[in-house]
Amino acid sequence: MIDARRSHALNDRRTGNGPLLYWMSREQRVADNWGLYHAQQLALQRKVPLLVVFTLADGFLGANLRQYAFMLRGLEQVRQRLAELAIPLLVLRGDPPTELLRFVTQTGVGTVVCDFDPLRIKRHWFETAAAAASIPIIEVDGHNIVPCRIASPKREFGAYTLRPKLKRLLTEFLVEIPQVVRHPFPWLRAVEPFSAEALLAGLALDRSVAELTDLAPGEAAGAEALAAFLEGGLERYAASANDPLAAAQSGLSPWLHFGQLAPQRVALQVARCGGMAAEPFLEQLIVRRELSDNFCLHCPDYDRLDCAPDWARSTLEQHRHDPRSYCYPLEQFEQAATHDPLWNAAQRQLVISGKIHGYLRMYWAKKILEWTASPEEAFAIAVQLNNRYALDGRDPNGYTGIAWSLGGVHDRAWGRRPVFGTIRFMSAEGCKRKFDVAGYVKRWGRD
Ligand SMILES: Cc1cc2nc3c(=O)[nH]c(=O)nc-3n(C[C@H](O)[C@H](O)[C@H](O)COP(=O)(O)OP(=O)(O)OC[C@H]3O[C@@H](n4cnc5c(N)ncnc54)[C@H](O)[C@@H]3O)c2cc1C
Repeated sequence: MIDARRSHALNDRRTGNGPLLYWMSREQRVADNWGLYHAQQLALQRKVPLLVVFTLADGFLGANLRQYAFMLRGLEQVRQRLAELAIPLLVLRGDPPTELLRFVTQTGVGTVVCDFDPLRIKRHWFETAAAAASIPIIEVDGHNIVPCRIASPKREFGAYTLRPKLKRLLTEFLVEIPQVVRHPFPWLRAVEPFSAEALLAGLALDRSVAELTDLAPGEAAGAEALAAFLEGGLERYAASANDPLAAAQSGLSPWLHFGQLAPQRVALQVARCGGMAAEPFLEQLIVRRELSDNFCLHCPDYDRLDCAPDWARSTLEQHRHDPRSYCYPLEQFEQAATHDPLWNAAQRQLVISGKIHGYLRMYWAKKILEWTASPEEAFAIAVQLNNRYALDGRDPNGYTGIAWSLGGVHDRAWGRRPVFGTIRFMSAEGCKRKFDVAGYVKRWGRD
C-alpha cells in the first residue's frame, strides 16, 4: 500500500502510460526504501516495468575520491541486490536533470519518483526536471521518519519547537517499513551492468584525499554496523557519548548520509532495545537530524553566515573588529598546524579517519571562528574542511552543525566573550573537565 503522506508532487502533469522510473539519489539502498517501494507500487498497479536510475555528476559539491569511492562501491551492491529482484539500475553520466529528461523522453517513461532532499543542488535538479517534464515527478521522503514537509511547514527555532511536533506524529510514522519484491514486468531492454572501479576511473575527480579502506561501504556493512552498535555501544551511549575516547557513539553517520542505512530502521531497532540510552540516542537520530533537514529546506543560505538568526549576526557584528589572539589561513587549519594540540588532533582525526567525534566537532568549528579574521571566512573554512575530509560531509547535519557552532542557529545567547559576542563559547580547559584531552591528543596528535 502506498503511503501518500510521504510523497509530494513536484508538478501537475498527467501520468503517461509508460514504465516507472525511480530516480535514486539520497536513499542509496534497496531495503527500507520508501521511494523505491512507492515507485514499485505504482508500477505494479499499472502493470508496467520499473527501472532505477542514478545520475552521476562530476565534482558534486566538491566531493573527492574519499566520498565517491564509498558511494559508488555501495551503489554497486545496490545494483546486485536490485538485479536479484529483476529491477535494473542504470547510471547516467552528465548534468542530472538534463540526462534524466533525455532518457525519460527516449524511453517513454510514464512517471518518475525521486528522493526528497533539502539541499539547494538537489532541489535545483528535481525542480528543473519537474518543470520541463511532460510527466509527473513525485518526491518521496525516505530520510525523515516524520516526512520533513509534514513535520513543519516553516523554519523551526530549535529542537524545543520541533520536538513536540515530531513526538505527536511519531506513533503514526515510526512503523514497520514495507519492502520491494521481485518485479514481474521486465524492463524494455538489457541494461549494461556497471562496476564502481570503472566509474571511479572515468570521473574527473580530486584524488588527493585518500579513500578510507577500514570502513566498508554499502547496505550490508551499514546493517552490520547497526547490529554491532546495538550489541556493544547503545547501553553506554547515555553515559559516554560525549567522551571522544569511549567509542560510545554509533558511528553510523557515513551509512546514514549515503542512504545506505535507513534512519527509520535504526530508530525501530533502538526503540525495540529500549533501555536508558534509547531516549538520548533517539533525540539525536530523530529530533536533531530531522531539525537539520527542516533548517536546510526552509533556509537556503544554510551554508553561509547569512543563515544565522538576527541576534547572532548582530553580536558577531559588534565583535567583528575584536583583536584575535591567533589568526590562521585555511591552509594552516588544513595542515593541523595551529598552536592548539587539541584542535590539531581533531583536524588530524578528520583527515585520517574521515570524521571527528561529535563532541569535538563543536570545539573544532568554534575555534575556527575564534582564529579567523571574520565570521564569514570562518564559516567558509569550516564548510570546506568538513566537506573535503568528512565521509558524512555535504549533509544537512553538517551545515546545521556548523551554523549552530558559529552562528547560534537553534541555540540561544550565552555570556559575552571577545570575538564570539554572545555565541556559545567552548575552551580546551572546559574539554579537560569532560574527557581525557591528553589521551585524545596522544591518540590523534602528531607522533
Ligand atoms: C561542526 C559540526 C559539523 C558536523 N558535521 C556533520 C556532518 O558533516 N555530517 C553529519 O552527519 N553530522 C554532522 N554533525 C552532527 C553530528 O556531530 C554527527 O551526526 C555525529 O557526530 C555522527 O556520529 P555518529 O553517527 O556516531 O553519531 P551518534 O551520536 O551515534 O548519533 C546517531 C545519528 O544521529 C544523528 N545526529 C547525531 N548528532 C547530531 C546532531 N548534532 N545534529 C544532527 N544529527 C545528529 C546523526 O544522523 C548520527 O549519525 C556535525 C556537527 C557539528 C557540531
